[in-house]
Amino acid sequence: MTDVSWQNRFADSMMRTFSPPLAMLVRGEGCYVWDDKGTQYLDFLAGIAVNSLGHAHPEVVSAVTKQIGTISHVSNYFATPPQIELAERLKRITGAGDDGRVYFCNSGAEANEAAFKLARLNNKGHRGRIIALHDSFHGRTMGALALSGKPHMRESFEPVPGGVEHIDSTIKDLEATIDNTVAALFLEPVKGEAGVIDLPVGFLKRARELCTEHGVLLIIDEIQTGIARTGAWFAYNHDEILPDAVTIAKGMGGGVPIGALVTFGWASELFRRGQHGSTFAGNPLVTATANAVLGVIERDDLAANAARRGQQLREIILGFHSPLIEEVRGRGLLLGVGLTEPVALKLSAAALANGLIVNAANETSIRIAPPLIVGDAELADFEERFGRALASL
Ligand SMILES: *Cc1c(COP(=O)(O)O)cnc(C)c1O
Repeated sequence: MTDVSWQNRFADSMMRTFSPPLAMLVRGEGCYVWDDKGTQYLDFLAGIAVNSLGHAHPEVVSAVTKQIGTISHVSNYFATPPQIELAERLKRITGAGDDGRVYFCNSGAEANEAAFKLARLNNKGHRGRIIALHDSFHGRTMGALALSGKPHMRESFEPVPGGVEHIDSTIKDLEATIDNTVAALFLEPVKGEAGVIDLPVGFLKRARELCTEHGVLLIIDEIQTGIARTGAWFAYNHDEILPDAVTIAKGMGGGVPIGALVTFGWASELFRRGQHGSTFAGNPLVTATANAVLGVIERDDLAANAARRGQQLREIILGFHSPLIEEVRGRGLLLGVGLTEPVALKLSAAALANGLIVNAANETSIRIAPPLIVGDAELADFEERFGRALASL
């Protein structure tokens, strides 16, 4: 008899780039999802910090439905009202203001590809060097791979675009590296894929000073940390600095694919007509959806909710007093649970078996990134389910 399980159909039809899926999900509502057998899960990963408003949020559903029934795609030969509205909104919330400019794209990697090209345009004085951080993640396309500080991801695909050097995330290395031969410094304010690793205190501020002093573009990748995830619109808000460019994606579209590169000040003058573009980018369907998502985040002050709920979540996790838990890293609703033993995969599997979705970012880190709408009920549910998972190990 032929086996027609979805696992086999997946294995026989999907490219072999993914590990076997954990479940077949068929439906979601708020902070919960359901699999094909009707099992309910508390989703504390939110599609990796994507579903800012949870699943099937009525205002997102309504925005998508209304826009696709009105006009959904027009090409870049035309403008649409939702596109301009979103660009203006991004200029405001990033702090880029009047001199800001927005380039739309369809993913995080694409936002960083655009930023990479921007960096190449900062070549006055023949700056050839681009600096990024060891262990950082900026995406899987060739330019983004070159930027990512994870050699094992890159090795099979070399040569990648040249000129990128990786340094340790220390102020000392920063000071030793940034000079007028550098075109751009790329960094993640919290390294999400690396297991939610914070930058040293004062790093961002020093990076800002050095980049300003030497004419280097400070490009902050807020693809995971942005859009209120850390308790402010952007993680750089906590340090009261502004970058020269910020890349955004994940949480902006509430599940529709959209990314953006936002430039500040002189960085907005670098791209010239015809130098970059993408067919789907910034179409009215995705920009209308992002407008709805950002509108709800702003109206309901979900940045404040992320800060408050993140603090509660941290207290819950430390409150288990588990010998397996060494520390809680990160900020707001992007948290990394540092483990004392390499049991992250076991623990995330145990969580799933107890109806909770979290992510083993690496062997010793659990990443937690719930929807920004979490409240008391979901936190209580998390405490119960994660507690059971921990106890089962
Ligand atoms: C997810 C992520 C990316 C890549 O985004 P994709 O949409 O997967 O291409 C880049 N940078 C950071 C910090 C990310 O978290």
